[in-house]
Order: sequence, then structure tokens, then C-alpha cells
Amino acid sequence: MNHLIEIKGVTHAYQTPNGPLPVLDDLNLAVPEGEFAAVVGPSGCGKSTLTRLVTGLMKPDQGEVWLHGQLVKSPRKTVGMAFQNPVLLEWRTILDNVILPLEIVAPSMPRADREARAMELLDLVGLTGFENKRPSELSGGMRQRASLCRAIVHKPEVLIMDEPFGALDAFTREDLWQTMHALRAQEPFTAVLITHDLRESVYLGDQVIVLSGRPATTQFVLDVDYPDDGGLRKIDGLYTPQCAEML
Ligand code: ADP
Ligand code: MG
Repeated sequence: MNHLIEIKGVTHAYQTPNGPLPVLDDLNLAVPEGEFAAVVGPSGCGKSTLTRLVTGLMKPDQGEVWLHGQLVKSPRKTVGMAFQNPVLLEWRTILDNVILPLEIVAPSMPRADREARAMELLDLVGLTGFENKRPSELSGGMRQRASLCRAIVHKPEVLIMDEPFGALDAFTREDLWQTMHALRAQEPFTAVLITHDLRESVYLGDQVIVLSGRPATTQFVLDVDYPDDGGLRKIDGLYTPQCAEML
């Protein structure tokens, strides 16, 4: 199968004053184009470390990271990122924040086209009418919606999200899950979603990669069943005592 992201045998330790701190051990992951992989694991198990390796910000001690058939050796511009605390520029409007990546990767694109592209996404996430507001005028959930638009406005080859909904209350978080599904229906993209929320991983992931252990390794890879009736997603093995114990 053609995988857009492939992580093979990635092992990594941080060098600390007290010696090496092994964080990831023989991690494997393969995400086909258009799929959503959810990586779930307890705090401190190395999830953010994994994002830095996938985006090329750090090199693994061992193993390889492949994006679109190319070995990742340095930071990639074609990776979109979303974080728990979205950094929106306060002096820019929401529209101008969303447009930002286009200014960098497509400087010759006419302003009207950039705006049209940004507005299309803002509409999909329910922010029409807020495009001229400043970030500080929006709620946390709305800011995260805007930051998701900004992360995909330039159609990156892959979107990496590091606990994007972690700071939101439970109701807002579930709203955002619906929004993610709506976005995906219109804008197919490949993504790695990092989370410590099991429900979120099952709701949003096409596959769920469970990390645990010290150093952390891939414990399970679970395929999620999509019910045709839009009902709750079911997954075998996730709620077993063995898995519950790990998380
Ligand atoms: P997670 O995102 O799953 O909470 P992290 O990848 O942030 O986990 O961290 C994994 C482990 O590596 C933790 O024990 C953390 O303290 C340690 N760590 C993270 N970044 C560094 C760093 N730059 N230098 C040394 N240790 C680090
Ligand atoms: Mg983290």
C-alpha cells in the first residue's frame, strides 16, 4: 500500500545532564494517504517528541521517517501543525491569520484568491462572520477552529496535531470533533492526531496507535470500524483490561 507517512523503527533518547533519557523505542507507524492516525498514550510517553521527529525538527537516533516517499532529513515546510494553545497573531484579523501560510508558500497568489480560499475554510468550521474579528474577541474553541483553518489553508501534505483540543472543555471539544469530520468530508487530508483522550482517538482516528512503556513503543495498532449509519464508532480491543491498565 502507498503510505504517505511511514515511521520505521524510530528510537530516540534525549541527552540530559544525568545521561541519556530513552523516550521512544522501535516505534512503527504507517499512514496511507487521506487517513487519520490517532496516536494515544499517557502524558510524558513521548508523543510530542514523535511530532518533532515527523516534522524533521529532530533526527531520531535510529530508524527512519518517510513522507511522501522521501526520507525526512530536515524541517519540512509542507507539514501543517496545530497545537493545544494556538498561536494566533493578535494584531491581525482572523482572516489575515488564516491567510498567513499562503503569504509564505504562495506569494504570487492574488490577494482575492487567498481570501476566497481562507473564507471557504472559515465557512466549513462555522466562523463566517468572524473573519474581521481579532483573535482576542473569540472563544477558545473558535480560536482553535481558526488555527485549524490556518494549518490546512495551503494544503500541506500532512497535518500534525499535538493535543489540539486538550485545553478545551468537554462540550467544546466534542463540537470540534464534529468540525473535524466536516472538514475532512470537504478537504481530504492526511493527519496524525496526538491525544491522551481515548474517546477522541476512536472518534477521529481511522487507526489508533497506542503508545506506552518507558521508553514508549507501539503497543497496539487498532483499526476503527466506521458504522454506515453514522452511529458510534466501535473498536475491538480498546476497552480491554490490558489496554485500560496502560492508559
Ligand atoms: P508527551 O508529549 O507524550 O507528554 P514528550 O514527548 O513531551 O511527552 O516527553 C517525553 C519525555 O521526554 C518526558 O519524560 C520529557 O520530560 C522528556 N523530554 C521532552 N523534551 C525534552 C528535552 N528537550 N530534553 C530532555 N528531555 C525531554
Ligand atoms: Mg506532549
